[in-house]
Amino acid sequence: MEFTYEVIELVPRHVFRTARTVSATSDSVIVRLSDGPLTGFGDAAPARYYGETAATVVAYLERMRPAVEQAAHESELMAHLTSRGGHDEPAARASLEIAAHDMMGKRFGVPLCRHFELDPSDAPITSISIGLDTPEVMLEKALEVRGYPMLKVKLDAATDLSVVERIKRETGAAVTVDANCSWEPEDAVRKVAELARIGVEFLEQPVRADDIEGLRRVTERSPIPIFADESCPTSAQVPLVADAVDGVVIKLMKGGGLLDAVKMAHDARARGLRTMLGCMLESSIGITAAAHISPLVDYADLDSAFLLANDPYVGMKIDQGRMVLPDEPGLGVRPAGAREA
Ligand SMILES: [Mg+2]
Repeated sequence: MEFTYEVIELVPRHVFRTARTVSATSDSVIVRLSDGPLTGFGDAAPARYYGETAATVVAYLERMRPAVEQAAHESELMAHLTSRGGHDEPAARASLEIAAHDMMGKRFGVPLCRHFELDPSDAPITSISIGLDTPEVMLEKALEVRGYPMLKVKLDAATDLSVVERIKRETGAAVTVDANCSWEPEDAVRKVAELARIGVEFLEQPVRADDIEGLRRVTERSPIPIFADESCPTSAQVPLVADAVDGVVIKLMKGGGLLDAVKMAHDARARGLRTMLGCMLESSIGITAAAHISPLVDYADLDSAFLLANDPYVGMKIDQGRMVLPDEPGLGVRPAGAREA
């Protein structure tokens, strides 16, 4: 197979801030595999938090180049990725794994959701994220997306919870909150009671990623469900957090691609956990891939392309929170500006 990649700088429409990161721009590595007339697209959105940068993704892809170029077929590449593991470089691995899935769907003429025997009409709605800022700017951003049924509000330790109440009241949307590891457990117990009073649906990752006991303490005292995100990067951690939380957040860029995400969704559900599919700042390639398996989960937060000013690809569209998947073989993504097939 032929193999090229390109590092691109994604620019969010608003600087995107969470308790952990500030992103004025974000690097993404777009992978293209080709075999005769077939092209498979993949995307790596590396996160420093998980030890990856565009440079480490490029180094990984160069190490993989001989195996990719020698693979006669995408299934041979999939077998190589599986035997090699590589979940310690999850975004880099995901770029090749997503591209191989795109090719597989195109070769057999089926949209990726159908390859996984999923019905796109079962996809949940997606929330839209409101990045951390002053309360006034956060409310302004929320009002820009008034009419969307679900908003996810990013908070840190310092921000007063009254901003959540204002956003909920003034937009009428269902609201979830993500503290991105920034609260101390005792503080979180107090805050979660207030979030319940406001009518927040659930709270994501209140405490430090390695503080599973802290997560458990918050969950035991919380009137609303608590989800693990940073504490549960791959399917391997599901058993470790299962009795400490009510749900887990699944991301292709944490777990190394589609197959671990599907496994995580099944494993979590078997343990009685709720599931949400989330994303990093990714192009439409990554979020469209995730959207194809979203019929497996209870909630989706697959809004990154919506937040970008320069998404280089088009794929899944969001219609007032409803995810509309392309009805084409594979991912169904194409470079922005390219003609429809
Ligand atoms: Mg999160």
